[in-house]
Formats: sequence, C-alpha cells, structure tokens
Amino acid sequence: MKTTMSFVLLMLSATSLRSQIAEPAAALTIYTRFATPPSPPSVGYMKSELDAIMFPFHLRIEWVSLEQADGREAAARVMVVSFKGTCHVDSRPAVGPASGRLGWTQVAEGEILPFSDVDCNEIRSLMTARLAMSLPEARERLLGCAMARVLAHELYHYLTGTTKHASSGIAKAFYTGAELASGRLRFDEAQLRCARGF
Ligand SMILES: [Zn+2]
Repeated sequence: MKTTMSFVLLMLSATSLRSQIAEPAAALTIYTRFATPPSPPSVGYMKSELDAIMFPFHLRIEWVSLEQADGREAAARVMVVSFKGTCHVDSRPAVGPASGRLGWTQVAEGEILPFSDVDCNEIRSLMTARLAMSLPEARERLLGCAMARVLAHELYHYLTGTTKHASSGIAKAFYTGAELASGRLRFDEAQLRCARGF
C-alpha cells in the first residue's frame, strides 16, 4: 500500500454486505507486537474500528500480545501483526524519508502468509496536519482508526489470498490522509465475494 492524492467515494449498503456472508461466526486471533509502547486509547479505537470494518464476516476477533502469548490461544485462523514506528499520538512525527508504505503482508512463492506489518510512523506522517489540529481525544481516535484501516487492508490480502488491489474500498492500493481519517474505507461487495470462503 502506498500513499497518493487519489480520492474515491464509497457508497456501501450494510444490508447487502451482510447478505454476502451467511457463515456462522469464525474466530481470528491477531497476535500483536509493537516496536514501542502504543497509546492505549488508540489501540482501543483500532480494535473497535476493525470490528466495524470486519462486521460483514461475522468474525470474532481475539487480540493477543505476542509478549503475553502462552500457546494456549489456539484458533482456527491466526495472524501476526508487527506495528512499526511509534503508535502514540504524543510522540513527535518521525523524521527522515518516508517509505510510502503504510502496511504490508509477507508473500512466499505466491502464497499470502499471515504475517503483516503496519507502520505507525507512515500513518502519522500522512495525517500530520489532522493530528496537529485535533484535540487529544480526537487524535487518539484518528490514529487508532487509521491503524485499523491499514490492518484491514492487510487482512484483505490474507482473506482473499491475492496480492491484487481494487479501485475502491479497503482493497485500494493507495490511501489519502483524508481517507485514512474518514470512515468510508470498507470492503465492497466484490471484495466480500472474493473472501467468502474464509
Ligand atoms: Zn495491498
């Protein structure tokens, strides 16, 4: 995923999205590892926003810190997510050249592996102006929801087993700062059909 100034307006129907997925709730355990201690409120917003984005899948998402994992969190599906940079709104923006990559997922011999990275420095860099203009509570929500949207994009690759991107929705290859800050990034119906076998 890279950043660009493109803009796509999404119009989704929650009712029609729900109708695409008729399977009972499945469990997905997400193991997390943070390079530096994250902002707890932002992490809370991230979890809530990811639940909202993944709602059409009827997924039951369990979060487990890799540092606290004891091997007893057996689940049918697991994903390991490493958060790079600083996932904290009160830290100074990262300096140095931006990679332009908000997140990525490992691929081996054409197969999508359940190992993803989310770069909080890139996210904060893309949202620098919005974060600076916002009150503390709003900053926490902005960062947390943006982290969820980037993570949902990587989940899209995992769920569909594809490296391809779409022109709209959560599967877009490029997000703007405005999109990251908005609630419009969701799976569209075509992407849901691709992931229906999950
Ligand atoms: Zn991607």
